[in-house]
Amino acid sequence: TNKIMRKINFSAGPSALPEEVLNEAAAEMLDCNGTGQSVMEMSHRSKAYEPIIAECEALVRELLAVPENYKVLFLQGGASTQFAMIPMNLKKNGKAAYINTGVWSKKAIAEAKKYLTVDVLATSEDKTFSYIPKVEPIVGDYDYLHYTMNNTIMGTKWAYIPEAKRPDGSEIPLVTDASSCILSEPLDISKFGVVYAGAQKNLAPAGVTLVIIREDLIPETMPVENTPTMLQYKIHADAGSMYNTPPCYTIYMMGKVLKWIKKNGGAEGMAKRNQEKADLFYDYLDNSDFYHATAEKGSRSLMNIPFLTKYDGEEATAINKKFVAEAAAAGLVNLAGHRLVGGMRASIYNAMSLEGVKALIAFMDKFAKEN
Ligand code: PMP
Repeated sequence: TNKIMRKINFSAGPSALPEEVLNEAAAEMLDCNGTGQSVMEMSHRSKAYEPIIAECEALVRELLAVPENYKVLFLQGGASTQFAMIPMNLKKNGKAAYINTGVWSKKAIAEAKKYLTVDVLATSEDKTFSYIPKVEPIVGDYDYLHYTMNNTIMGTKWAYIPEAKRPDGSEIPLVTDASSCILSEPLDISKFGVVYAGAQKNLAPAGVTLVIIREDLIPETMPVENTPTMLQYKIHADAGSMYNTPPCYTIYMMGKVLKWIKKNGGAEGMAKRNQEKADLFYDYLDNSDFYHATAEKGSRSLMNIPFLTKYDGEEATAINKKFVAEAAAAGLVNLAGHRLVGGMRASIYNAMSLEGVKALIAFMDKFAKEN
C-alpha cells in the first residue's frame, strides 16, 4: 500500500481538519450508513439526510451551551455575507457601533455603511492593528455593537467582552465575527445577540457559515426595503436552514468535526489544547533573538500567530521567502503571512496538534542557526 504523506498544515483557512474526521468521511464516501449513497448525492429533504443536519445543530447547541431562545442557522455566502445581513436585519434606529481591529472589521464596516450610519468607536489602526483597544463601556443609541473577536490576519484576539448600553439603560445587542476562533475555547453565547463564523477554519470545509442569533433580533418585516429573500434571517430560521438547498456535505463534515471536538473535551478541552500550543509558540518567539511575534501581549490570538525575523526591508523579503520555501520542503506548509502584511503566520486551529507546533519550532531553530 502507498503510504500517504500528510503535510503539517498551517493554513489560515480553509484549514487542516482532524485526520480522524477525514478518514471517517473517506470510509463513508461511497456508502453512508447503508444508504448506498454518498452524502454528496442525497436529497437534503431525505430521511437519510435529516438526522445529519439535526445532529450537527444539536452538537453546536451542546458544545457552545446555546440558550433555548437562540436559533442556530447554517447559511451560505461566507462570513462576508454576514457583513451585509447584520445591518440589513438588525437596523432599527439606523445607527450602529463598530470597533475596527483589522481587515475583516473594515470590510464589515464598509458593508454596514451601505445600510446605516456607522460610528467607529475605537480602532487599533495607529499601530497596524497589533493590539485590541481598551474600550470603555459604550453608551449610545445604537442598534448593535459589532466587533471581530479574533483577527485572523493580524493575530489578535479580544481578551474581554465589550459592554454597551443605550442611554435609557437597555441593552445594545453585541454582534461578533468569531470566524477564526469559534469553539477554540468556551464562549458565553448569552452575552451576544449574534455570533457568526465561516466554518472553514475550526469547524468544517468551506461552504457554510454558522450563525447563532437570539430570536428576538430576527425581524418579522425587513427594515431595509427589497432585501433579497436569501438575506433575511427569518426565512432561514423558519425553514430550519432548509429554505433552499443547504451546503449538505459541509454540514455533514461539521457534524463530524463537532463530534471530534466533543470527544476531545469540548470547548474546554480545545481551550486547554490551544493554550498549550500557543504558549509554547509565543514563548519560543519571545525568547528568540532571530524571530519575534507582531501582536502585543494581552491581545494575542491563540489561533493565528504572525511573526517576523530580525531582518528589515529587502533582506526581510528575501529571508521570508526562503523561510516559507524551506519550511514547505520540510513538510510544513502554508506559513506565508497574509498578502497584505507579509512576514510569516502560523495558524494553529483546533486540528493542529502540539506535535505539529513542536515540529515547526524545531524547523525554525534550525533555520535561525543557518541564517
Ligand atoms: N472574518 C474573519 C475574521 C475571517 O478570518 C474571514 C476569512 N478569512 C472572513 C471574515 C471572511 O470569511 P468568508 O471568506 O467566509 O467570507
